[in-house]
Amino acid sequence: MAGDELGSLRRTRYSADVSAGADGERAVVMGWVASVRGHGAISFMTVRDRDGDVQVVAKAGSCPDGVRERIAGLKVHSSVAVSGTVRASPRSPSGAEVVPDEIRVFSEAARTPPFEPAAVTVKNIDTRLEARHIDLRRRPLQHVFRARSAVLRAVREHLYGEGFTEVSTPKMISSATEGGAALFSIFYYDRGAFLAQSPQLYKEQLTMSFEKVFEIAPIFRAEPSRTARHLSEAISIDVEEAFVDYADAMDGAERVVGAARGAAARYAGANAGSGLAVPEMPAGGIPRRAYGDVVDAARDAGAGVEWGDDLHPSALRKAGLEGFYFIKDWPAGPKPFYVKPGGPGGPRASESFDLMFGDLEISSGSTRISGRAELEERMRNKGMDVGDFAHHLGAFDYGVPPHAGFGIGLERLMMALTGTANIRDASFYPRDADRLAP
Ligand code: ATP
Repeated sequence: MAGDELGSLRRTRYSADVSAGADGERAVVMGWVASVRGHGAISFMTVRDRDGDVQVVAKAGSCPDGVRERIAGLKVHSSVAVSGTVRASPRSPSGAEVVPDEIRVFSEAARTPPFEPAAVTVKNIDTRLEARHIDLRRRPLQHVFRARSAVLRAVREHLYGEGFTEVSTPKMISSATEGGAALFSIFYYDRGAFLAQSPQLYKEQLTMSFEKVFEIAPIFRAEPSRTARHLSEAISIDVEEAFVDYADAMDGAERVVGAARGAAARYAGANAGSGLAVPEMPAGGIPRRAYGDVVDAARDAGAGVEWGDDLHPSALRKAGLEGFYFIKDWPAGPKPFYVKPGGPGGPRASESFDLMFGDLEISSGSTRISGRAELEERMRNKGMDVGDFAHHLGAFDYGVPPHAGFGIGLERLMMALTGTANIRDASFYPRDADRLAP
């Protein structure tokens, strides 16, 4: 059945403006049916919009019978407009309800949904992801994604405030930047190409012309690992700066995370009942632990780790590490070719750091190699073909400055800032090894 036309009808209030103070005023509300209950002569409907819910109470005698009957027959998720009068009502959660005199049903839901709009939890994440369009209407996710939006805005404003220029770099590339294994291959006209794993080399080059740059954009990782913290397509907040080293970059990452946390905390403060678990920033700043010390602590706690090993979540949990902290001075060996070896950790270490939240890696950063000969040597040691990077290496003939930077995974940051357990719930339409739709 064709739906009613919008015509010239326009919303006059959001749900937040249907309050006891507006008693007796006219209102046109629009949204989606979240629930309907009928008891013969009276029908209750909840209409959910951007801000929250509006109670619509259609009682025989106080609204036209046709309107009441139409409301009683509606399915949840139908999109509607209700015109009527606001009435203060202590029974309604918002303190007011709308008594309708007209209803328009723009699009009637065609089937019964796999879960209710008001469901706080739905057991199977795949059931939700298959119907992501309506899953995203559920309040818990609305809060995560609105907080995400606030965080992105705060991070942008913070970086602009520090004098960074926002840049965009190509996502279709001809060679790997983070090592060969995790690339997606694509067709580029008659040639093979890849989706970018990170903007690393471009952002480094851009420090030659803009000094302080950042980019917020997708990164693509062909991750075979099926975990609650890996996506195939993630959003990275990438920051790079000339004439600084990794200690400055840690300071910078700490300020970005502080700005992000502040935005999440303000969101949670303004939305009581959001359920977001926003963590505190450590008093006295984010602690900076040397990799060697973390290895010792994990070993003392019974984890089988040696200097040179990666630090798996289980080892970090054993070491009892919680909240935000940095692990710095990682072994150089496994680090990408552009990470500067040496530094305070010794000749086998590197000027590098990871920003952690408990056992979750949020960000990694480093001082970068700024000399061509050293960079080429690192590439050869890693078995890379220097010829593939001719353009990038060419930059080093024209005064590459000392520089450092970091990349923060936005979804992982949001997991930390909201208490979201599965990274898929920090991405609107997550991509993983098993999921390329919706
Ligand atoms: P991990 O060891 O956890 O797989 P990584 O060492 O591959 O991560 P980097 O290449 O250092 O990660 O990327 C920088 C940041 O980008 C990470 O700290 C993380 O926040 C984010 N990131 C990287 N890969 C992914 C992914 N597959 N899914 C979500 N976020 C990611």
